[in-house]
Amino acid sequence: NFLTIEGGEGAGKTTLIDGLARTLTARGVRVMTTREPGGIPIAEQIRSVILDQGNTAMEARTEALLYAAARRQHLTEKVIPALAEGMFVICDRFVDSSLAYQGHARGLGMEEIWSINRFAIEDTMPQLTLWLDISPEEGLSRIHQGTGREINRLDLEGLSFHRLVREGYEKLQAQNPERIVRLNAECAPEVLLSDSISIIMERFKG
Ligand code: C5P
Ligand code: MG
Repeated sequence: NFLTIEGGEGAGKTTLIDGLARTLTARGVRVMTTREPGGIPIAEQIRSVILDQGNTAMEARTEALLYAAARRQHLTEKVIPALAEGMFVICDRFVDSSLAYQGHARGLGMEEIWSINRFAIEDTMPQLTLWLDISPEEGLSRIHQGTGREINRLDLEGLSFHRLVREGYEKLQAQNPERIVRLNAECAPEVLLSDSISIIMERFKG
């Protein structure tokens, strides 16, 4: 079982994933949580290249290719083996992030991004994606209220970029209404967690 969590900055993906892992583990599910870009050493190294504040020369297509490369390595080295062992894999971001950020917000085009990612992931797709939807204003104010989270190169993007990211997710949800479920991330964390658990139980039936 493969579940991905998506959303803009400050939506609470990390907090939700911690809660999901605790709740599902308590119910006897073997859970593996991981994140993108990263999750394994090679992909974490690629992540630091992408997010390095000094890398102001990073070109948009280069960035898109690096995300796809990190995704490939993470998938083959960690996600696919875990799925093969019957683990319930929860991943913080996956291909929808690239489609929304690089494809839509950065303007490279969702089709272009899909083509490099199809090469990277072949046919491994999540059965369910929870999109934590939050207004960009609220999301950005959360991350700047210092939750100990370090500010990276991409956090310096303005509000208009984050509005485009949200628009990208909206398009993706409209195109994949079965796989992608939109959740209101502005409600209380406990409500978000219990709503997510209900959807997961329904979708994966135990
Ligand atoms: O999910 P997380 O906040 O750890 O992502 C790290 C940074 O990478 C964020 O600033 C996010 O906006 C950015 N990102 C991106 N394109 C992706 C995935 C993440 O710009 N495809
Ligand atoms: Mg996070």
